[in-house]
Amino acid sequence: MKSETFEALRQQLDRLGGISFYRQKLEKAGISAGDIQEPADFSRIPFTTSAEYFTELRKPPQECSLFSPQVTRINFSPSGKELYPVYQTANDLERMHRVSATSLKAAGVTPDDVCVITFGYHLFIAGLFYQGQLEYYGAKAIPLGPGDSETALKIINDYRSTVLISNPTFAMKLASGGIDSVRILFVGGEPFTSVEGYPERTKAAFGRDLTIIDSYSMAACMPIARSCRHENGLHLMDDFVHAEVIDPDTGENLPPGEKGELVLTHLHKEAAPLLRYRTGDLTVMEQRSCDCGRDLTLPQSIIGRTDEMLKIKGVKFWPSQIATILRSFPQFSGAYCLKLKQVKGVDHIELLVAGGAGAEDQAEALADKVKRDTLVKVNEIKVVEELEEGPLVQDEREGRSF
Ligand SMILES: [Zn+2]
Repeated sequence: MKSETFEALRQQLDRLGGISFYRQKLEKAGISAGDIQEPADFSRIPFTTSAEYFTELRKPPQECSLFSPQVTRINFSPSGKELYPVYQTANDLERMHRVSATSLKAAGVTPDDVCVITFGYHLFIAGLFYQGQLEYYGAKAIPLGPGDSETALKIINDYRSTVLISNPTFAMKLASGGIDSVRILFVGGEPFTSVEGYPERTKAAFGRDLTIIDSYSMAACMPIARSCRHENGLHLMDDFVHAEVIDPDTGENLPPGEKGELVLTHLHKEAAPLLRYRTGDLTVMEQRSCDCGRDLTLPQSIIGRTDEMLKIKGVKFWPSQIATILRSFPQFSGAYCLKLKQVKGVDHIELLVAGGAGAEDQAEALADKVKRDTLVKVNEIKVVEELEEGPLVQDEREGRSF
């Protein structure tokens, strides 16, 4: 942990003492801010689960300790059928824009760029998040919003937009309509870096070698990580958020390079800050120096969810890895079903995948990639034309499906 990170964490812990939600958690664990004397002490602080954080956040503002009278913006974030508030004070917004602006520079954006934002502005945070940082940085931002690709194409072409900010699917759709001015594409909202071959396919759709910048964030913490023009993985914004990777079973901190659950702590945030928040997102963190100046990196961004973890043949296995792997084979539709049982006391794994012409020929390549990426050998792969909607995982061993 860098010394400035530790200093910021200590000051943030003092601030969190003023928030009853965190004060009570620390009191219950018998820890006060003064007990945190060195970086190693930080791991004594209890985790925050998403369930307890959202239970507090769901309270009306006057009863919610994560709200503060200094709040100047309330966005919302959907979770299931509910909307959760995203609270920001003026200081929070300023810091969010300032930190993000450093990564705009690292992405190669200049004040001359005309940037089109196709994320939503209504209720949700993504559109305003980009709008705010681009204005802060001094580039030209067009708040287009999502949806209508005809209007988007007309504006992009009329104003010779050089930067497009979009989810990858919509960007590909726009590319097929013909846009030749865009030189930097910011993607977000869908897996991208973790999908093998996706960046190449996107560049092919645009018909040229544009810079693609991938981001990872969540409504409760924006930004978290973003790649730069050197295409060196997603750099953590470690002057904004402190990241740890833990073993999801034991809660122990894992060394760099090991796969585990990402845990986040805001260094400065005033409203609804996160403290050792378990994201449930599975990643690998590495120390990698980059010419842009950032060094903590998530090379593959997010590769799965910890709450769906299975143990197969003694190996930790995340079914969502299958979805990610399937995205790199265009012959498969992406639909899959994983069937697990025991045969003579040994785990047996069968993978059903849906695919059209040429899919059958790829079954072996798919099995190889699953083995390489997950360390689990699939016993059988069945390629079918169509899969009925149903659970993605049928685990006979534990009698559970999800
Ligand atoms: Zn970099």
